Parts: sequence; structure tokens; C-alpha cells
Amino acid sequence: MTLKRAIIHVDMDAYFASVEELDHPEYCGHPVIVGGLGPRGVVAAANYAARKFGIHSAMPIGQARRLCSTGIYCQPNMSRYRELSTRIFSIFQQFTPLVEGLSLDEAFLDVTASRKILGDIETIGHSIKSRVFEQTGLVASVGMAKNKFLAKLASDFRKPDGFYRVPDDAHVFLDPMPVGRLWGVGPKTARRINRAGILTVGQLRKADIHLIKSVLGANGAHLQALARGEDERDVISTRTEKSISHEQTFDLDLRDDREMLAILQKLSEQVSRRLRKKNYCAGVIHLKVRSRQFQTSTRQVSLVETTDSGKAIYAVVKTLLKRWLQLNPGTAVRLLGVGSSKLETKKPPEFSGSTKPGIESVLDEINDKFGEQTVSPTLGKLSKT
Ligand SMILES: [Mg+2]
Repeated sequence: MTLKRAIIHVDMDAYFASVEELDHPEYCGHPVIVGGLGPRGVVAAANYAARKFGIHSAMPIGQARRLCSTGIYCQPNMSRYRELSTRIFSIFQQFTPLVEGLSLDEAFLDVTASRKILGDIETIGHSIKSRVFEQTGLVASVGMAKNKFLAKLASDFRKPDGFYRVPDDAHVFLDPMPVGRLWGVGPKTARRINRAGILTVGQLRKADIHLIKSVLGANGAHLQALARGEDERDVISTRTEKSISHEQTFDLDLRDDREMLAILQKLSEQVSRRLRKKNYCAGVIHLKVRSRQFQTSTRQVSLVETTDSGKAIYAVVKTLLKRWLQLNPGTAVRLLGVGSSKLETKKPPEFSGSTKPGIESVLDEINDKFGEQTVSPTLGKLSKT
């Protein structure tokens, strides 16, 4: 018995065109078309007023102009679209660390674990929609379901300004749809299925598996599972953050390896704390050493198992430093750094089966309340010398 997941798909309405309307209020109410304006340009986005003329994305711009000569045609302003996209995605992050971006204006959010704190999936979906509007002035369509496939169909269902949750009995929602709406079914495959007398998702769901396999081959069982509304794929978070590191430069160069190790221990704790705060585990740990002569060495180790533990990180950098010191005996050190990369989002505790917070997250809470380094699992109280 697997846990019922809560997946949200957010898709901004006519994104590029809506940003142009936002930045040019005088465009509102007019057909707005964003795209390459040269002779070989194509439409990148069209607002709903323009779509009434039959204009859609990927259409040659010349054809669009013939369909709607009175429209407002704009060159894409990608840096502006990216800027607003960053803002929108940071709103998503307020609801869950599990955000999978599909493009500048579209993402999946796994809010399964967030429900404990933020309310049911519709409450969360509604908060996302209104927060995006309040903070950007842009309208998002929101689809909610138990998996990615259904959530994506749901956001499209009542677009623009859509808000739809797929009912627990997904068949009511899915059955009437044409088979072409299933992921992986292009026009060619759709025609092949139609020729076998199957027009709707409901018909595909109920069809005999042998018939389906004779029409679709090995892919048949997979498509029939989609037709039943089944999709087990996880939301894979796509993050811009590539690494987390801390380093310290010393007023007086260090020569004593015990002092160096104490610093590494502190830096490891800081890195580990930030990893846990962001719900990451690291796959690679780095050590950085800069000598008095400004020669910088970096050493790294790939871990067999990813970690967010300060102890584990310290164990790695300690070994790396000892090796470095053997090769560079007596070197005065002016900087030490501890880094982590190949970051992965940790699954929420609900998925890993444990609900007890680890000792290190409890320590994080204490340090958050009373200040950095109030308690440390490895050092006890820091002694000042
Ligand atoms: Mg969109």
C-alpha cells in the first residue's frame, strides 16, 4: 500500500504575452503576439485575444499578421521573462522543496508532505495561485491530482485562470478525453489507435490488452495504465543551486594541524546545517586549502551514499586534509574551506518511512533559536584560545 501523493501542476497563462501586458497596461484588451518579427520569425506566445483570431505558438509570424493585422507584435524580452520566472519559482519553493521546473512558466510540485502544515491540496493550490498573482500580477492555472500525468491535464482543463482537482475516481475526468491527450500519444499513434475503433481514453482503458498490444506493441500496457490514471513517476526537483560551501580566512596563518581540524569541524557543521535547512543531501564533499604563498589546492571525494551529516562531512575533509599535510609538511595555511556538491533533494520523512526528526535537525532548531554554535554535536562548547 503506497501513500497517496499530492501533486500540483502550475502553468502560467500565455506567459510571455501576459508579461508584455503587465509591463504595458495599454496592451490590455488587445491581441498581443510575442515572437520573432523578422521574415522567418515564428509566434512564441499569443494572448487569448489573439488566439480568437486563430493564432497559436509556432505559427509563422507572417501568417499571424495576415490573420490579425491589428494585433500588437512584440519581440521576446527573455531576460524579463526569466526574472519573473525566478520570482514565481521562489514562491513555489515556499510550499515544498520538491519543485520540478518544465519551462520558465511551468512546474510540478509534490506537496504530499506539505499538507500536514499547509492544509489539503486544494488549500495549497489556491494559496499558490493567489500568491503568484499578488506578487507578480500574473495569472496561473493550477491542476491538482494524485500524480503528474493527471495534474498536468488538470491545469489545462479550465485554462485560462484554471483551477481543477481531479476527483479520486479519475475515470470521470479521463474517460471522455480523446486518446491523443495521453502522454506519448502523438497524432500518428492516435490515428493508429482510432483505426482499431478506440477513440476515447475510456475505450482504451476498457479495451482488451491483447488488442492493445497488437496495435501498440510493448508500449500498450503503459498507455493503458495512463488511461486508468496511473502514473508513478516522482517529481524530480530541478534546482539552480549547485553547491553549498563555507570557508574561513585566518588573520594569522595556521601551522598547527589540531587547530586546522577544529576549523574544519566547525565549517563541516555549517555546511551540514545549510544542507538540512534546504533539505539537500550532498554526493560530493570538497576541501579547499590555501597556503601562505596563495597557492590554492582543492580535493574532493564522491560519496557512495549522499549525506547531510556534519560528522560524515568532517570525516571526509579530515582525511583529505591529513593527506594534504603529508604532501605539504610544515606549510602555513591562510584559508580553509569545506564544500558540498551534487546536491539532491531529500525525500520528505513521509516517504522514507521515518517521522522522527534526526538529532541534527533538533540541534538546528536550537541553534536557530539561540544563535549559531550554541550546541554542536561533535565539539561540545567551542573553546576559545
Ligand atoms: Mg504556460
